[in-house]
Amino acid sequence: MSNNILIAIAWPYANSEIHVGNITGSHLPGDIVARYHRLNGDRVLMVSGTDSHGTPVTLRADALGRPVEEVYQVYHNQFIELFQKAGISYDLFTTTHTENHFKVSQSMFLALNENGYLYTETRPQWYSPAVKRFLPDRYVEGTCYFCGFENARSDQCDNCGNVLEPEKLINPHSKLDGSIPELRETRHFFLDLSKLEPNVEEFLCNRKDYWRDTVIGQSLGQIESEGLQPRPITRDLDWGIPVPVEGWEGKCLYVWFEAVIGYLSATIEWAQITGNPEAWRDWWTDLSAKTFYFIGKDNIFFHAAMWPAQLMGTGEEFVRIFSEAEGVPLNLPYDVPANQFMNLEGQKISGGRNWAIWGLDFLSRYDADALRYYLTINMPELKDSDWDWDEFVARNNNELVATWGNLVNRTLPFAYKHWDGLVPDPGDLRPIDKEIISTVESGFQTIGEHLEAVRLRAALGEALRLAKAGNKYQDDTSPWFEIKNNRIAAAKSIYTALRVVDSLKVLFAPFLPFSSERLHFFLGYNEPLFGEQYIVEQQDKLGSHNTLRYRPPINGGHWEPSRLQPGQRLVQPAPLFKKLEPELAKEERKSLGKNIPGA
Ligand SMILES: [Zn+2]
Repeated sequence: MSNNILIAIAWPYANSEIHVGNITGSHLPGDIVARYHRLNGDRVLMVSGTDSHGTPVTLRADALGRPVEEVYQVYHNQFIELFQKAGISYDLFTTTHTENHFKVSQSMFLALNENGYLYTETRPQWYSPAVKRFLPDRYVEGTCYFCGFENARSDQCDNCGNVLEPEKLINPHSKLDGSIPELRETRHFFLDLSKLEPNVEEFLCNRKDYWRDTVIGQSLGQIESEGLQPRPITRDLDWGIPVPVEGWEGKCLYVWFEAVIGYLSATIEWAQITGNPEAWRDWWTDLSAKTFYFIGKDNIFFHAAMWPAQLMGTGEEFVRIFSEAEGVPLNLPYDVPANQFMNLEGQKISGGRNWAIWGLDFLSRYDADALRYYLTINMPELKDSDWDWDEFVARNNNELVATWGNLVNRTLPFAYKHWDGLVPDPGDLRPIDKEIISTVESGFQTIGEHLEAVRLRAALGEALRLAKAGNKYQDDTSPWFEIKNNRIAAAKSIYTALRVVDSLKVLFAPFLPFSSERLHFFLGYNEPLFGEQYIVEQQDKLGSHNTLRYRPPINGGHWEPSRLQPGQRLVQPAPLFKKLEPELAKEERKSLGKNIPGA
């Protein structure tokens, strides 16, 4: 049975490039799960976009002295280039700066207001007498009143992760000019999350048995200790989505409130541009749909508690307001498989110190599947992990090249050479042949279960274990000896090994789509496993922006064992993976922390 699966991935802020920690944190796990479900015949929609509003972007634009529209697009286009090169196969990667996202966010605001979850209140906010305007939270830094970290933003501490109340910050100063801001009164809309606290708690308890302990623990823990507090959802800022209420000109929806709405608005945008404007409902109002949110641990509370609260508070009103149709509630998250952080050579990744491996820079020197392999086998699923250059090279050489690559290398060229480029006819298979075929085929069940439950390290580890079993079978049968005096036995061995490789190609495909696709072609198949990524420029009243899209194949691959037929014509094979010199690790390590971008 085909399921509707929404893969919703954290929206990157348009103020920095994407590094390996971001890729392994959210984009790659989302892509792996999306690719698996596509192979499994499910109806997958994978969406995200650039978080182009909010003060990270205006701060960056101020620092560069450039218009904010221009700055967000520079990062947006870099994201798209990276996702294409890394094979992060978004059905739609868009931005929050679209007419559609404005309308969807404003409709959600109005729905919450109609349902009585919004109220207004006057609050003190940082005001700069020097530049004569209110300073958004990120424009003010000071010392965290939880942990004493000196460079805390006034709304959140990057050191301890706590959400901060700006007025409690110690030693506040403006990031623009270092001047000391003063607190002034300003009026804002608040979302009364406290009214929704019991519903959110129940929502979390209902998911306790299958969510990651890290996600449940942090979310319920924070609710128990602090509760769900009302939060302002508007701010004094002109870059963003206008508050859709008369008399509120000059104020915008707060980015924490509107960016998460992007999951919904991107689905709606996808439905509109593919010519079936109501299709978004298949993921948002069809109760059987499953929605997965791939995020890093810094975003857990927003996605596991606050976003469900927004959706619950919206109730049936969103559909009434946005579509002028009969009201129906929106689906709540099915799973939020948040990852922990990846460090780099034992230290926290820091863009500012250039203590980072930037995605595009990395892919200018290495293959995407080498990156995807290491970031999956080392994914910070339940605890922080570490990028270690020696380990990257060693795993690439020992596992990708010497295990999986080796199995392919000792099978395909041999078959190609000795059977005139055709899959040999094995006649009846021997017990040893049937055994390895059935061992590898069991992977469709075991790896499939891991992937359904988003245990990606375990899934890839199992695929690697099966590739090792394939190598052992090759050692045991030794077709290169058999061929000298028993060509029939050699045909059985090589046919079996080809079947094993053909099945493993699918089992590895969600993780290593580029090499699996090449192998699929070497094995003589004409239709691709996966579809194509492409870029389309979109226009609306706010201007133009690029979108990254995915065109599904007409007859794509299937999550099922090989049915390779004797006589199928092979294509001259080439190695799938590159061995790396251990010296590389030393050179790469030396360059860390140097060449600070934009400095
Ligand atoms: Zn702190």
